[in-house]
Amino acid sequence: MKTVTLRNGVTVPALGMGTWNIGDSGSRRAGEIESLRKGIENGLRVIDTAEMYGNGRSERLVGEAISDLRDEVYLVSKVVPSNASYMGVQKACHRSLENLGTDRLDLYLLHWRGGVPLEETIRGLDALQDDGLIGGWGVSNFDVDDMEEAESLSDRCLVNQILYSLEYRGTEFDLLDHDADSGTVTMAYSPLGQGGDLLQHPVLHEIASRHETSLGAADAAQIALAWVMRRSNVLAIPKAGSPEHMPRNIASMEISLTDADLKALDRAFPAPKRKTSLAMI
Ligand code: NDP
Repeated sequence: MKTVTLRNGVTVPALGMGTWNIGDSGSRRAGEIESLRKGIENGLRVIDTAEMYGNGRSERLVGEAISDLRDEVYLVSKVVPSNASYMGVQKACHRSLENLGTDRLDLYLLHWRGGVPLEETIRGLDALQDDGLIGGWGVSNFDVDDMEEAESLSDRCLVNQILYSLEYRGTEFDLLDHDADSGTVTMAYSPLGQGGDLLQHPVLHEIASRHETSLGAADAAQIALAWVMRRSNVLAIPKAGSPEHMPRNIASMEISLTDADLKALDRAFPAPKRKTSLAMI
């Protein structure tokens, strides 16, 4: 299985599990739990959630799904900027731990930058790490200038979680290389374009028709994931609330895109030629 190694020496699979909107629908709940458990049973470890997702509903569903599997999971949650003061991160972290039914997070991220000085947030995150409540911390939706500021304040930032997919390649101009060069792992969110138009694109279907996995013919979603994970420093976190999607996403790690595939994708989804502002969802 393809892996990424964080600067603290922890190695995890390059495919994780997103959980935005999970837990919002009573009728989908059992399937969402089954999907996450299926992911863990098949070797995935990273689960990404956030206090913001459904006001704690995502964290609570994750807690239920992993209640007997906690040690198998590399658990990630996020604090919203309005809670990112020194005391705010302590309180928010305790709330997330309670929602998740655990005594520790493996990774805690600042969801995006807000009004609290970064130095204060980092002091709060360092305190949580020193107290053993989190294994490490990182950031999300940080562009190069934000990363440079974080790096000037601390050498502990493990991860920058950003929007990265065929449809959103702007970060290839500088941010992805910046993070790789400084030893920060990039977590790619919404790598499937949120299940929208991207998965209908004819070029993805044409490339899929040339690939096989252990589950049979490849599909467009698997090509989109294989493309994101082609970079050695990137961990993709697709959300699969449907249990039938989870094994297909795992099988995407079997796909190696050829030079011809990559060229076709570059023509359909051109790489950036200049700096653009960081896209966020
Ligand atoms: P994704 O790009 O992961 O797309 C999710 C959609 O794709 C769902 O509708 C899902 O359906 C569908 N899907 C999953 N697998 C397949 C498959 N094999 N074939 C076809 N469709 C599939 O979007 P998200 O926005 O959810 O991003 C992933 C995660 O990233 C989030 O869940 C969250 O954890 C994180 N995130 C972080 C942000 C941040 O600011 N830091 C912002 C946005 C997301 P189904 O559920 O039915 O399986």
